[in-house]
Amino acid sequence: MPAAQPADILVLPRVPEPPPTEPDRPVARIGTAHRQLEGAGFPVRRPFPGAVAFREADPFLLLDHIGPIHWAPREARGAPWHPHRGFETVTYILDGAMRHTDSHGGGGLIRDGDTQWMTAGSGILHDEMPPEDLFRHGGLFHGTQLWVNLPRRLKWTPPRYQEIPRDRVLLLASQDGGALVRVIAGELAGHRGPGVTWTPIDYLHASLSPGARLRLPWRPDFSALAYVLVGSGQVGAERVGLRAGQVALFGPGRAVTVWADRQQDGEYSPNLEILVLGGLPIREPIVQWGPFVMNTREEIVQAVEDFQRGRMGSVPATPRAGGGQASAAQGVEPGKAET
Ligand code: MN
Repeated sequence: MPAAQPADILVLPRVPEPPPTEPDRPVARIGTAHRQLEGAGFPVRRPFPGAVAFREADPFLLLDHIGPIHWAPREARGAPWHPHRGFETVTYILDGAMRHTDSHGGGGLIRDGDTQWMTAGSGILHDEMPPEDLFRHGGLFHGTQLWVNLPRRLKWTPPRYQEIPRDRVLLLASQDGGALVRVIAGELAGHRGPGVTWTPIDYLHASLSPGARLRLPWRPDFSALAYVLVGSGQVGAERVGLRAGQVALFGPGRAVTVWADRQQDGEYSPNLEILVLGGLPIREPIVQWGPFVMNTREEIVQAVEDFQRGRMGSVPATPRAGGGQASAAQGVEPGKAET
């Protein structure tokens, strides 16, 4: 798994554990991601919305987990041109590669531990596709896409694109060195990750050695969720079991704890690979229609109209690998959450 790795975990700064008197956050619920096809037809596991509701995941809207999957030659798929308004998409690649192009001039190829952070804000068209070599020859792909909501006052912020190469991801270690913590965005005990976020969040990818424990200080005003990418472990005050494809929603508190089972399946990674995320809840009404997330139905009607009239930008009509003809209409089918 090529996601950011240190040469020596023991030289990394350590995450100080919360004091033993601080109870671990309890587990409010465990949910299992549902499976569906996205974009031009790639399978995702989606822990939320679904198993966890919008108001529980707040300030997050959606998490898609793609792979790990071995694409056969000409099988890799992406999400051709489609619009977004009202939130941010964060694409994190553990293995393989993805090319981003957007109508605001942002874009780039990310691979093996890199992150793309796109603030759709007032509206943008983008294209998220496997690069030509991955499409042509096939290969391993593993990644996630997280949607971070924007509050009403920021829904009309101008679009912005950030690329976070893996060597900028902040690496920390647990007290005994049994867990590696990658801070993609947010702050952990004074250590700040590279992602610049409109909405205060923490977005971490941790790798726990078999049997290891990770006890994290957590802001009491932040929500807290954990999603297992690969492997199995336990979470929270009750040490509830959590395996690949499952999400845990935590109750209140100042400490989030994860344990890795002693036996891991080991095929993809010898470790428990887990995302730990949370943020300051926005607590506003959420109306989603496909790729638009606003506060009211009227704003959704306006978004569809703005998109149809070309006010979110224009698409170059070039065919490409892995998704067929460019089609800006793709992303606005009712009830379809384009990634
Ligand atoms: Mn998208």
